[in-house]
Amino acid sequence: MRYLSTRGGESVSAAKAIVRGISPSGGLYVPESYPKIEVSNSVRGGYLATAHRVMRAYLPETDPAELERMLAAAYGSFDSPDVTPVVKLSEQEHVLELWHGPTMAFKDVALQMLPHLMQDSLRQTGETKRVYILVATSGDTGKAALEGFRDVEGTRVLVFYPLGGVSEAQRLQMVTQEGANVDVCAVRGNFDDAQTGVKQIFASKDVADALEQQGWRLSSANSINFGRLLPQIVYYFTSYETLLSRGEIRPGEAVNFCVPTGNFGDILAGEYARRMGLPVHRLICASNRNNVLTDFFESGVYDDNRPFYQSMSCSIDILISSNLERLLFELADRDDALVREWMSALREKGMYALPEAALDELKRTFSAGWCSEEDTLATIRRVFQDTGYLMDPHTAVAQCVYERYVERSGDHTKTLLLSTANPYKFASDVLGAFEHTQNDDFANVGRLFALTGAPVPKGISGLSGKPERHLDVCDLEDMPKRVLSPVLGKR
Ligand SMILES: *Cc1c(COP(=O)(O)O)cnc(C)c1O
Repeated sequence: MRYLSTRGGESVSAAKAIVRGISPSGGLYVPESYPKIEVSNSVRGGYLATAHRVMRAYLPETDPAELERMLAAAYGSFDSPDVTPVVKLSEQEHVLELWHGPTMAFKDVALQMLPHLMQDSLRQTGETKRVYILVATSGDTGKAALEGFRDVEGTRVLVFYPLGGVSEAQRLQMVTQEGANVDVCAVRGNFDDAQTGVKQIFASKDVADALEQQGWRLSSANSINFGRLLPQIVYYFTSYETLLSRGEIRPGEAVNFCVPTGNFGDILAGEYARRMGLPVHRLICASNRNNVLTDFFESGVYDDNRPFYQSMSCSIDILISSNLERLLFELADRDDALVREWMSALREKGMYALPEAALDELKRTFSAGWCSEEDTLATIRRVFQDTGYLMDPHTAVAQCVYERYVERSGDHTKTLLLSTANPYKFASDVLGAFEHTQNDDFANVGRLFALTGAPVPKGISGLSGKPERHLDVCDLEDMPKRVLSPVLGKR
């Protein structure tokens, strides 16, 4: 299996794609083909067995026994034996909970595995330099990357997050991070600014040269890295197999997945699963007020000339949706020149338009919708009152979009709703769906527990009183300096 860049250039091995993160042409790596996987009729082997089947197909050079060991190490830290359990909400709808890892958000599924894939890939490519992982985060990736890479030999992690753009629990999780190789810095700007800043650093020869002299090479833990995407394909299969084994669906019956998404990583993994043979009826793309993707799926025009809103589903507050490029590559029939054209239009004018045929193709699989702040709160409240199930704001955005989709389409296909965070990660906003909140996040956690009885995860209660170790703030234009200074020893 070779990997192609969406913007052209030579193909590379899986190991090289993972070590590099992004291709020298600035494109994203995609597999040359989508291996067909047989969907088993039971979950006998559990999550790890399915993960092994799915991931092995993309990592032919990785020793199968080693892959088994990596999977066991990565998912041993999850607090559910199913890793990503499925909860029945109604006859038609099931919730796929992706937040049972150490940081309580779906990013753990990929970021507990990526360090293992990275180390194996470094071995395979004979890399002698140490790896400097740069992350721009809208809240959850940062903590999950810090936790995944902490004290992993031969690596160092620096996380940039938008100052004032993350929830209090997310901020505390990052600034209290322990470990010898971890670093966190707030940026004066929004997430798109921070992500653009990181992309520019990756493209900078000056930074690369300066790092190389010190024995470092850059890599990415953002969802542009194929090693992030790959572990996410797995839970589309395991959740389907779970519904089969529970008799909720018949073999071969197609299901819908509804996914709250910003950078298009999570839902793209679903599209990959579909291309691998998973019976998928529709993939429903759910956005908040930053509804650039909703408009794109409607009109075929991607236009980020619009205001950026901060919302309570902050992990999907994104206008430049990086992983969409991988889907565009397929819509362009893998014509990398066409992708380059669209991407330069996006850079220069903030927009590009798909040809009619590509839009039709897109609409065959995808539906899209968005949900306002008010409706997010109303959804959290109503779902809890009707079913006793407590949703975080991202999951509620997806739920709201799903309900409207059903109303509009009359589609009663069985649906898996991807739940991407534990509600206590956003305790103040979630409590705000029921009553007035206080200014103290921990008081709100206590109140939310008293009100709903939903269990408080240890990772949240343990944050109170932890020392804040990373309080650095920098301007956007100082990001390259901030990357270099710790390893050049003149911080
Ligand atoms: C990152 C994240 C998402 C969206 O992930 P994409 O890669 O943009 O699809 C959704 N919800 C939560 C809680 C997240 O942390």
